[in-house]
Amino acid sequence: MAHRAHNFSAGPAVLPVPVLEEIQRDLLSLPEVAASILEISHRGKPFLRILKQAEADLRALLSIPEDYAVLFLQGGSRLQFSMVPMNLLGEQFPSATYIVTGSWGKYAASEARKEATVEVGWDGQATNFDRLPQSHQLQINPAAGYVHFTSNETIQGVQFAAEPITGNTPLVCDASSDFLSRPIPINKYGLIYACAQKNAGPAGVTVVIIRRDLLERSRNSLPGYLNYKNHVDANSLMNTPPTFAIYALGLVARWLKNEIGGLENMLEQNRMQAQLLYDVLDESVGFYTGHAQPNCRSLMNVTFNLPDDSLTAAFLKEAEKHNLNSLKGHRSVGGIRASIYNAMPTTGVEQLASFMVDFRNKNS
Ligand SMILES: *Cc1c(COP(=O)(O)O)cnc(C)c1O
Repeated sequence: MAHRAHNFSAGPAVLPVPVLEEIQRDLLSLPEVAASILEISHRGKPFLRILKQAEADLRALLSIPEDYAVLFLQGGSRLQFSMVPMNLLGEQFPSATYIVTGSWGKYAASEARKEATVEVGWDGQATNFDRLPQSHQLQINPAAGYVHFTSNETIQGVQFAAEPITGNTPLVCDASSDFLSRPIPINKYGLIYACAQKNAGPAGVTVVIIRRDLLERSRNSLPGYLNYKNHVDANSLMNTPPTFAIYALGLVARWLKNEIGGLENMLEQNRMQAQLLYDVLDESVGFYTGHAQPNCRSLMNVTFNLPDDSLTAAFLKEAEKHNLNSLKGHRSVGGIRASIYNAMPTTGVEQLASFMVDFRNKNS
């Protein structure tokens, strides 16, 4: 097999090897199609079958009920920062509440502010987003059109273990970096969006799951392409969709179903793998300092700092020699970020954990 380093990239990120192998095997010609996935019409039967199967597999994995629509859109999660307020707010609901627990939530709120009134229900900026709110700290306006939160803050490495309690206001979630990493109770949500390139596939497609009654809020005066209702009516085929990305996402969903055995199993593996790294942090007080408070640590992005910048640089350099790549933290947090999404094999995490111990022993 081709040489592959362990890839801790925050996104686009590691994909399951069996998925890459299937893509490679079938890239010249899909079975029974006699053409590549890159070459066929999005309106032809073979692609329609792929689209339908991808949706069916997502519905099965997440137990998505029929009163929710599933969309495959473009523009990344960034476009959802605007589409969500454009569609869900208006005369009837002039404001939304945003729970800001990291960089992505902050971006989402600032885009929403261009469309409507944003009330911040909690803001973790004062401690550089190292923690999450307790339920009693949330300030939710009961008249808000929705409450927005980011289930996993990819840059800071803080993750909600369960949905924040927000009453009857529809809950909107940016689940970009923990989508499909665990089961979620869909019926607690009004809308969930997630770009694929962290956990669910390659860049180019963003999944939106929306409760159908909320579609009534989308005004006809919205630009057609930015109106959820149009995408639901067109079954995500309003224009040419990102066919390859949807195909690959479908393969990832099938891998989760058939090889992992569903999202409960995925969660168990993700927990175990994250624990290997957090255990090293906890036994390395004074050398490695985790960014997230222990009670809100992410299972997807493990963030920590070393005593100084030169040790961080040495860590990154040494790690690459050990085939452990893309570990540099985001500049706003510094230090190291190990992204250990679904497709990261346990052996990759084990190797990183033992590298961290060795590096600490040599340098402290
Ligand atoms: C990566 C990420 C985004 C941005 O996604 P794009 O597809 O690049 O727009 C938004 N939110 C979260 C939580 C992310 O991890």
